[in-house]
Order: sequence, then structure tokens, then C-alpha cells
Amino acid sequence: MAIRVLPPEVAGKIAAGEVVERPASVVKELLENSLDAGATDIRVEIREGGRRLIRVTDNGSGIPAEEAPLAFARHATSKLADVSDLARIGTLGFRGEALASIAAVSQVTLLTRPREQNLGQLLRLDGGQLSRQEGHGCPAGTIVTIEHLFQNVPARLKFLRQPRTEAGHVHTIIAHYALAYPGVRTSLTIDGRQAFQSSGGGNLYDALIAVYGLEVAEQMLEVVTTESPEVAGTSAGADTPSVTGYTGIPSLHRANRRYITLFVNRRWIQDRSLSYAVAQAYHTLLPVGRHPVAVVMLEMDPAEVDVNVHPTKREVKFRDGRTVFSSVQRAVRHALIERGSVSSPHGAPRTWPTPHWERRQSLVAAGQGEQVDAQMAMELYRTGDKAGTPGEQFGLSAIDSPQPVGPVRLPLLRSIGQVGQTYVVAEGPQGMYLIDQHAAHERVLYEQLMGEVKQEVVKSQTLLEPMTLDLDPLLAGILAEHLDRLNHAGFELEPFGGTSYLMRAVPSILVVPDVRAAVLDILEMMRQGDDPLASQAEEQLVSAVCKRAAIKAGQTLSHEEMQQLVRQLEQCEAPRTCPHGRPTILHFSVEHLEKAFGRR
Ligand code: ADP
Ligand code: MG
Repeated sequence: MAIRVLPPEVAGKIAAGEVVERPASVVKELLENSLDAGATDIRVEIREGGRRLIRVTDNGSGIPAEEAPLAFARHATSKLADVSDLARIGTLGFRGEALASIAAVSQVTLLTRPREQNLGQLLRLDGGQLSRQEGHGCPAGTIVTIEHLFQNVPARLKFLRQPRTEAGHVHTIIAHYALAYPGVRTSLTIDGRQAFQSSGGGNLYDALIAVYGLEVAEQMLEVVTTESPEVAGTSAGADTPSVTGYTGIPSLHRANRRYITLFVNRRWIQDRSLSYAVAQAYHTLLPVGRHPVAVVMLEMDPAEVDVNVHPTKREVKFRDGRTVFSSVQRAVRHALIERGSVSSPHGAPRTWPTPHWERRQSLVAAGQGEQVDAQMAMELYRTGDKAGTPGEQFGLSAIDSPQPVGPVRLPLLRSIGQVGQTYVVAEGPQGMYLIDQHAAHERVLYEQLMGEVKQEVVKSQTLLEPMTLDLDPLLAGILAEHLDRLNHAGFELEPFGGTSYLMRAVPSILVVPDVRAAVLDILEMMRQGDDPLASQAEEQLVSAVCKRAAIKAGQTLSHEEMQQLVRQLEQCEAPRTCPHGRPTILHFSVEHLEKAFGRR
């Protein structure tokens, strides 16, 4: 095909694809426009997950009549004048392409009036083309209505998930901006039902309650920057960001990183390194594989951060990333130590050296003089092919790699001790075995519980005392939606006002030490679109419970406990993997050991 310049409609749709991925991205752009326009009250309404309708109503500056059509032109913005502005962006938008992109893939109605004008303007665009413009009465501010999103882009339409899932993404966006702008009253209505509302009172803590619920908010500690940028009136530290926000006490943790929320100059961003900085501050305080809940706000000179590196502006680049990283880590750690009074057994504030068991456990590779850490060994195990697996090279072979599919019982093992409070060392007829205590216990619990489920021993177990669940609105919505099914599956849950529920009974398989956390995990699975209640999903439910209830890595075991774990594992029908498919046991065969020590 000859090279051709694309017709504007095609180019427009391609460009739109970068900005508008799903209804939530439309909501994000509209919300940012309202915030940039200085609105103090923003109402968002969606129908059918945003596919049928998205409407954002604000009381911001409005758009003057003569400029209104220009708002939809590509690269038309009121927020930048010249190149130098690009180096210090203080608004959320700046590219002038959001409205153009949204209009290219939907039907848009704009109703807007600046406070000082008497009459508003109504504009209608179909597929990016202005089809109607007229004077129209309206309150001061702007109302943007998007209908039939992606109707002219079937490829995109196909990728939209269920309305509930898309609505969940919208909810997440709204909740995050409510945190970043506690002074702005924000609400979300989904299919006519109010799903979220922030007070706009200006207090971050109130916004925190609106987003996460009181129960979580009460377990958060205030984060304040440790080094003030205006140290004694000097300019020292002028380029160190100010860090504020809230971070959870160590016992508040979640199964994923989604609950570490970062803002830079009130822009919600995604940054792996900064999430890691937050997690690092909790070093050794959280169980392995769990993540903290935190809301961290960075304020810094806009010249120190480039927000123009990603189409959706979700990623940014810091001029001095290292300083930002350590400021965040220090502020969060400070909150944990000072406010959370985390102390060592000697009463002194806890210091944070890396304990030996926290360093990545390493195994000395036999004969090679090289180190393989446990994670890498797993990787090798997974990727290893039959002919001389890299794992074998290092004297490691996963016990089940040569075995055909199907459960294969273990030989009788004798436990010898524990390595790094994570692995149990055992001896058997064919050499040495290293058992992952958490994975192994998960397997043991899984088979026990599945056995009970199959026999339908007891379906539901009444709790000694009813338990109140104060949920964040997102999970409360999920629970409300599935209330009947949950109750059918053995729960006894009833609404308890607002986003709270009273739980009187749980399915008997859920009777684990931390019932509340297990229930939250289940709701979280549902939020992510998994359905632990679907037919045949009992297994999924059980495996989620086992993950929660099993012995953790980092837990010291007595000799009896180790031996008991080994016995129980021997009795399992499929002892070699955990319910999630990871190996529970590695085998170092006698031959390998002999070869490695040069005995043969
Ligand atoms: P950008 O936000 O990058 O400038 P947009 O395409 O999102 O680009 O918006 C284009 C312009 O339309 C903005 O610069 C602003 O002047 C105007 N605008 C859009 N939404 C609003 C609103 N809700 N209130 C006032 N002005 C708005
Ligand atoms: Mg914009």
C-alpha cells in the first residue's frame, strides 16, 4: 500500500484510543476539566457502566459562548500558552485533546455558562462533528453528557467488561479524586442509585472515611513531611517534596497494591518505585505477600516533575527520583514509628535493619560457587526444560518435575529443622527435601476443607458474636449486589445502615482465625470480577481461605509443628503443589548432592 495521510476521522479515532480506553477514562478526563475549572461541586452520573450515559455536572468557571466550539478542537486548550508553560504544569489537563478524543468516539452534549454571562450555550457533537449550537438556559458551570460511547468503534466496544466492572472502575476514579480534593464535594450515581458522596468539607480524614469507610480510616496514621521545605526561611530543601497523607497501622493490610494511593500535586499517579517506597517503610511489619493501605500526597515544584510522559498522564517522571523516593519512605516510616508507636521489645523505637530472614533467602549452588536465591530457583524450575534444566545445573530439581501429571504421594520424611523461618528441611530415602511451610500448609488445609465440603458436614456456622463489617463504599456495593447469593452460600448478612453489614454466620469453611479478613478477601475477589460463589467455585473459595489461614513464611515453628506439617503433607493426595499451583517441596537427590560434593 502506498503511504497516505490518514483522513481526519481515522486519525481522530486512533488518537482517541490513547486517551479513552474505557468509560472510566472519560470520567477521569471530564472530572479533571471540572477541577481545573475550579469547581467545588461535581456530580457524576453513569448508566450501564457508562456505555449508555456519562454525565458530569460542575459549578466551575464555564466556557464563554464564543470559545465553546473550540473546546472540541484537537490541541485547543486554555491551560498552556507557550512551550515554557509545559515545563511547569499546574493544571490537571494541558494537552487540549481530551474533549476532541471523547467526541470522536461518542455523542456529546455540552451545556455551559460562565457566571458572568446570562445565557448559556448548548452544543451537540456526533462523532466529533458539531451538529447543533444554540443559546440555552443553564446554571453557572458546565454539564457534559456523553452518550453511545464507542458505538462507532466496535473494536473498543468488544473490550468493555460487564457494566458492573466498568462502574467499579469509574467509582475508583471518583474516589481517588475525592481524596485528592477533599474540598470539592463529589458524588457518583450509578443507574440512578447514589454510590458515592464526599462532603467537600476540606478535610482529608473525612474523605478517607467516605472512600474506605470508618473502620479502615480509624486504623490510619497521619503522615506529615519530616523535613519542612522552608527550613528557617532558607531555600534549603526547596526541591524536597512535601509529603502528607495517611498510612495504615501494620495490622491493616490487603492482598494487593491497589490500596497504596499516590498523588503528585493532586494528580493521581501510578509509580512502582514510590509504591515500593511506601511498602519499604513497613519493612518486616507486614506478613509476606500483604500490602499496606496508604494515601500519600506529594506536593512539589511543578518544574521538578514531568507529567507529560504518558498518554493518560497516569505516570510521571521526577527530576530527582531518589530524593522523592526517600522523602516518601521517610515520611511513612516516621508516621509508623512516631504515631503508631511501633517499638522494639526493649521499648526503644524500632530501628529497621534487614533481619537475616528478610534478605532474599539464598541457596549456595552446589559446585558452581554461585548463589541462587529462592525466587530465582523457582523461576529456573518453571522455565527449565527436560534436557539439562537450569535448575539441575544448580543442583536443584523440583521434586515433581519429572513426574507425570496426577497426584503422587510423598515418601516418609523426617523433619530436621527450619531455614529462614520459611522452609522446613527434611530428610527422606532419596535425599534432602526443602518444604515451603506456607505452601505446604495451604495444601494441607485445602484438602481438609475440600473433604468437609464434599461431605457437606456443616454448611453454615453461626458466629459466637455477630460481627459488624464497615466496608468502603466500593466493597459495600459489591456486597449489596451479591447479598442474596452470599446468604444462600451459608453467610448470614444483613444491612446495618450505610455501608455497614451485620454478619451472624459464615459458611463453615470460613471459620478461620481471621474471619473478617477472609470475608474481605472474598469481596475483593468479587470486585476483581472473579466469582467465588459460582458453581464449582467452592474450590476457589476454599483456596482463598487457605491462603489466609495457612502458616505464614517468617513464622518460627517448633520441632513438633514441623513434624506435624510433614506428616500432614504426606497424607495429602496431591502434596507437591499448593492449591494455587506453586510447588510445596523441592528435592535435592542423593545423586545431585554426591555430584556437587565431587564424590562421583
Ligand atoms: P485540556 O484539559 O487539556 O485543556 P480538554 O480537551 O480536556 O483539554 O478541554 C479543552 C478546553 O475546554 C479546556 O482547556 C478548557 O478551557 C475547556 N473546558 C473543558 N471542560 C471544561 C469545564 N468543565 N469547565 C470549564 N472549561 C472547560
Ligand atoms: Mg482536560
